[in-house]
Amino acid sequence: MIRKFLLAVFAVACLSATRSGVVQAAPIHVPILLYHHIADHQGRWYVSPQKLEAELRYLSGNGYHTLSMAAYLDAETHGVPLPEKSVVLTFDDGYRDNYDIAFPLLKKYGMTGTFFIVTGLVGYPAYMTWDQIAEMQRAGMEIGAHTVHHPFLTRLSTPAAFLEIFLSRLVLAQHLHTPINVFAYPYNDHNPRIVMLARLAGFEGAVTVAQHKGDIAGDPFEIPRITVLSGEHLKVFEQVIAKG
Ligand SMILES: [Zn+2]
Repeated sequence: MIRKFLLAVFAVACLSATRSGVVQAAPIHVPILLYHHIADHQGRWYVSPQKLEAELRYLSGNGYHTLSMAAYLDAETHGVPLPEKSVVLTFDDGYRDNYDIAFPLLKKYGMTGTFFIVTGLVGYPAYMTWDQIAEMQRAGMEIGAHTVHHPFLTRLSTPAAFLEIFLSRLVLAQHLHTPINVFAYPYNDHNPRIVMLARLAGFEGAVTVAQHKGDIAGDPFEIPRITVLSGEHLKVFEQVIAKG
């Protein structure tokens, strides 16, 4: 009896292994890009409006399709097929210039972006308001959570870190009347304890900052993104998109 049961468990395990093997047999190349400020300003975290537009024009002109993180996660976890040339554009921190500059440019090129919001900063000078975030979401942009106060999560106690993560999801869901499914670790600061808390908070996935090849694989709570640098030439951007 027990032997039969064990054989059945083994068969199911083999079947699921085969299924995941099928998904991973044809890795999909999807670079995930990270922007912060979009403004004419010198500084590491600034990309000029002209540079962003040149990059969007390049993606559009070369047949790239912008995905939400939700679509990316569907492909990663359920094997949902994606367009051959796909890219995800993410913007961290919820800066006001994301609404003023990035949002109109994305609409102009028929693209979507994912905006990770620090809920405790919404409405402050230089940050977006709730109305602006809601307007972007209605227009097809995706909204993700980026904690309440943008702390170094690994330095916090477990309950404090969990509240930072969970409350940002809850407050966004209440304001936007929709589930919030993706999370970004502030300062890219995470460890196995923080990754577990992001899972417990109910997200479907979370993004980091790391080198990657743009291939779909690995832990959905440690999805690597590539930072688009301020002074980077368009040729470098093209190489990043081509190689991840
Ligand atoms: Zn941030």
